[in-house]
Amino acid sequence: MTSHPFDSETVMAYLDGELPSTRSEEVREHISNCRHCQETLSALRHVASVLGNWSVADAPADSKYDKNISQAANNFIRRTSMPL
Ligand SMILES: [Zn+2]
Repeated sequence: MTSHPFDSETVMAYLDGELPSTRSEEVREHISNCRHCQETLSALRHVASVLGNWSVADAPADSKYDKNISQAANNFIRRTSMPL
């Protein structure tokens, strides 16, 4: 497999339990076989846990996931107007 069947926003929705069960199952199955998506999911969980104090400037120097985290955090902030 050379591409991911969903983007970080879909992974975020999966993390939030907002996907239909059939779609959620597809995401879960892909993630179980995709290291990149496992790492993205892990990063998203981290973002969700620290979102209250998170900013782009505070992103870790190990920035392999910066872009995904930044997009996901922006999506997350847009969708949840309340701080965690
Ligand atoms: Zn993937």
